[in-house]
Amino acid sequence: MGLRPNLLTRRAAGVATTTLALLLSTAAVGVVPAASAFSAAPDNACAEPAGEHSGHADARVKKGGSAKLDPNELTAAQLRDREADLAAALRERANTRTGANAVAPLATVTVPVVVHVIQRDSTRAGGNIPDSMITSQISVLNQAYSGATGGATTAFSFQLQKVNRVTNSSWYQITQGSSAERQMKTSLRTGGKNTLNMYLGQLSNNLLGWATFPKRTLDSMDGVVVLNESLPGGTATNYNQGDTGTHEIGHWLNLYHTFQGGCSGSGDSVSDTPAESSPAYQCPTGRDTCSAPGLDPITNFMDYTYDSCMYQFTPGQADRMLTAWNAYRAA
Ligand SMILES: [Zn+2]
Repeated sequence: MGLRPNLLTRRAAGVATTTLALLLSTAAVGVVPAASAFSAAPDNACAEPAGEHSGHADARVKKGGSAKLDPNELTAAQLRDREADLAAALRERANTRTGANAVAPLATVTVPVVVHVIQRDSTRAGGNIPDSMITSQISVLNQAYSGATGGATTAFSFQLQKVNRVTNSSWYQITQGSSAERQMKTSLRTGGKNTLNMYLGQLSNNLLGWATFPKRTLDSMDGVVVLNESLPGGTATNYNQGDTGTHEIGHWLNLYHTFQGGCSGSGDSVSDTPAESSPAYQCPTGRDTCSAPGLDPITNFMDYTYDSCMYQFTPGQADRMLTAWNAYRAA
């Protein structure tokens, strides 16, 4: 389709322009509003001890925000728990795949997408983003997950099922972990484990978005929250080509950040993403923060770089997402 060459051009051009932006960035960094202190409300749906409830969700922050403010960076213990849960879910599924009612694992997946546009009022500043930005977002997802932007081909494609516009001023500013977020999702979430519910609004704490990881038991919090103006053509400078959506859906499909675990241990539990010690911002070409082989994966969708800098998933990430789908989200 017509979008593909444009996307490839923008990706190629993006690396060059953001290298330039990096040189200019010392002045620009101070312009970004400082994020306020974050405190998360308890997540009653999670089984983890108080203070560690955040392991079921993950986020993306803007440059100028702080990775420390990412409400959902996993501790080593949380990661071990999640990996153990994945193994248990796979064992559970293996048992249901024998005998007369066997269900074969899927090799390709079309994800139905329901987009909830939370609005304060009918103005663009009040969250009324046009349908055209939503359809562009779906195109960006399909380009990214098909490998058309330069990465691995994954099993996933996305099909817009419904745009649900909701005017509610108390939901418009979405705070991760808040009771308002819970109330909003409880009242709006629709579909089964395979349905992607995407909530668009204005976000607190300099966040671009956050997502829940898959769980064996579906709950109403499941889904991704994305800054409305991060959609393609939005006003979120450097983050307005739709890759916040790509990144958050990566979490929803069980991917961790490429900088998870830093330089040691199993990192993001994917073998073909080189380790990196911390999030990369902007587009720091040649960055290499760990002694292990490979430059930092700054072009990976699961880092924190500019949209113009990130363009790929790896084959290992594609495998991990499909495995997790068959463990958690397949019928
Ligand atoms: Zn993230």
